[in-house]
Amino acid sequence: MFRISQYLKEITHPTPMGRVRQPTGPVVIWNLIRRCNLTCLHCYSISTDKDFPGELSHAEVSTVMKDLKAYGVPVLILSGGEPLLRPDIF
Ligand code: SF4
Repeated sequence: MFRISQYLKEITHPTPMGRVRQPTGPVVIWNLIRRCNLTCLHCYSISTDKDFPGELSHAEVSTVMKDLKAYGVPVLILSGGEPLLRPDIF
């Protein structure tokens, strides 16, 4: 909830900054799968509800995720297609 009184107080008496944080790695948005069960006219991935060749295997996905973790990626957003259509998503 936005409170105008808190906002004005913050302007007149700003909260001191905390410690300077080390820069984190980049946020990654990964189009994990091309298959999608929707049919948006504006689709940017030319998806359809069928399996496409060349998708990464479970082992390959796991390897990439470990690499992203080692690189310090703080947030990984899974997109597609519809990533929930991967049978191994969970
Ligand atoms: S991939 Fe995204 S934009 Fe394309 S059909 Fe699916 S939901 Fe729509």
